[in-house]
Amino acid sequence: MEARVLKSTGSWYVVETLTGEVINARLRGKLKQSGLRLTNPIAAGDRVTLKNQKDEEGNHVIEDILPRTNYVSRKSTNLSKEMQILAANIDQLFIIVTLKDPKTHPLFIDRFLVAAESFRIPVTLLFNKVDLYTKVEADLYKTLSEMYERIGYPCYQIQSTDKNSVEFLKKLMQGKQVMLGGNSGVGKSSIVNALDASVQLKTGEISAAHQQGKHTTTFAEMHKLSFGAYVIDTPGIRSFGLVDLEKEHLGHYFPEIRAAMENCRFNNCMHLNEPGCGVVKAVADGVISSQRYAHYKAILEEEDNDPYRRSKF
Ligand code: GDP
Ligand code: ZN
Repeated sequence: MEARVLKSTGSWYVVETLTGEVINARLRGKLKQSGLRLTNPIAAGDRVTLKNQKDEEGNHVIEDILPRTNYVSRKSTNLSKEMQILAANIDQLFIIVTLKDPKTHPLFIDRFLVAAESFRIPVTLLFNKVDLYTKVEADLYKTLSEMYERIGYPCYQIQSTDKNSVEFLKKLMQGKQVMLGGNSGVGKSSIVNALDASVQLKTGEISAAHQQGKHTTTFAEMHKLSFGAYVIDTPGIRSFGLVDLEKEHLGHYFPEIRAAMENCRFNNCMHLNEPGCGVVKAVADGVISSQRYAHYKAILEEEDNDPYRRSKF
């Protein structure tokens, strides 16, 4: 019998069966894993199969884990090589952006997009709190949404204090496992509440500094919304990290750079000062946004031990 993991507590799993029954299940013995060194074998969002027979204590038992389409992971500690899988099978990531109260830093958006690309998670940008916009923010939205939509990220304006303005999201979310990302205070819990008031997301994200170097285990939880979508709640996580990102591959996680690099003379081109660089040319021609290119260079220059690289969670 197939089931969807809603929550992992380390030794117990809360799973939903295909018929919508929510039950507890245990993992007995070892699962065959794909060469990853994992501290936790199963995470929220995973699809598993359950044994037909309960164990001698009468518990449902997880038999196997089905292949993941993607997952979000981090190192379990700074120095550790072991990975912790935070959530799996994320159909859609909504990055919540506010241009005011608080203003989301554009570099934050691009860093988050890079991480999502590296995890192969489709992204939609939701610009929240449009009721606070003056002409300045309205103009900025126009610029940003044109820039992001051109490279394949849909953008929408919402006001989560108005249920009607988020109604359209239900169609985008139906049947999907959706993750919400964005800085604290941008309205993540307000959006979920506006969609389904019976779900109360935990907010008050744990500060990054607090989590530094600690052996903290943050278990994500998946909530089922009334209209048939699942929201993955990852407490304490501000954005994904670039933990395992190889700098040589950074360009691949900018869709427009990925497209332009086909024209580079050297196939190990880093798109900085190399002669015959297709990316530099695309920037000069206005095909690639100079802001996005500047962020590519900024992320490339970030040291591995920069605070936000160590503590994106
Ligand atoms: P989270 O930390 O991302 O979960 O953000 P919250 O949902 O807790 O929202 C932070 C604050 O922003 C709360 O005071 C909300 O009432 C407020 N807020 C959320 N959405 C909107 C909106 O569309 N317009 C305005 N003006 N305030 C909003
Ligand atoms: Zn190049």
